[in-house]
Amino acid sequence: MFLRTVLCSLALATAGFAQNADPMRPDPNMPRPIAARDTVWIEEMTWIEVRDALKSGKRTAIVSTGGVEQNGPYLAAGKHNYVLRATCEAIARKLGNALVAPIVPFVPEGDISPPTGHMLYPSTISVREETFQRLLTDIAESLKQHGFQHVILIGDSGGNTKGMAAVAAALTRRWGRTASIHHIPEYYDYASVKSWLEKQGIRQTDEGMHDDFAMSAQMMLIDPTTVRMKERMAAGKFSINGVPLAPIQKTVAWGKRIVDYRAEITVAAIRKAIAR
Ligand SMILES: [Zn+2]
Repeated sequence: MFLRTVLCSLALATAGFAQNADPMRPDPNMPRPIAARDTVWIEEMTWIEVRDALKSGKRTAIVSTGGVEQNGPYLAAGKHNYVLRATCEAIARKLGNALVAPIVPFVPEGDISPPTGHMLYPSTISVREETFQRLLTDIAESLKQHGFQHVILIGDSGGNTKGMAAVAAALTRRWGRTASIHHIPEYYDYASVKSWLEKQGIRQTDEGMHDDFAMSAQMMLIDPTTVRMKERMAAGKFSINGVPLAPIQKTVAWGKRIVDYRAEITVAAIRKAIAR
């Protein structure tokens, strides 16, 4: 009796899922059963949404690298990753034909043991240059495998530049004409952001922290808790390099403008690189 019940429910289950027996191997051509969500972030999309975005011509993938490191007494260690949430979104939307891979938070921050650079401070997580380059290589190869034609590498931190340039050069040789990969150094140009801000009256007096107005404003656009807004207000320390960060709406508006400015420069450089 028991066996019969089991066999019976097995038969029912098989009938119900006849065309989709293995959850690991859904039909690659199955229709999307619901509307697609409007997002540029691959990790927020279903595999079907990514497949359909590729089909509709979104064949540029942005791979960004941030970091987890010492950023002074006020900023969260993931500073670069928070900034990239805002900039990558703006870049992909301006490009119009791009999706964004998950932000790579693990980058070379110094020797691990004995520690050097940012590794001298807790919170920092470092990877060896070799690990970083292998990680980027596998990410780029995965994207190419799925049909992305252009892979764009951008880094929000200076130490990431060398590795990204090396990976782009190596994969350009390996891929030939089948796909292209570009490191866009124009994205990482905090010096020109600073002078652009100066022209508009934001003059900073360096307080010697791994922090500045542009960073703080971009982070506040994403989440004011990442710059410890409330705690600094309570302590009378809600300013950076002599520039007040209150009122919050004003700084967040600056954050938006800075993100747009950086996105515009980056998009122009990406278009130029792809056209070459
Ligand atoms: Zn940094």
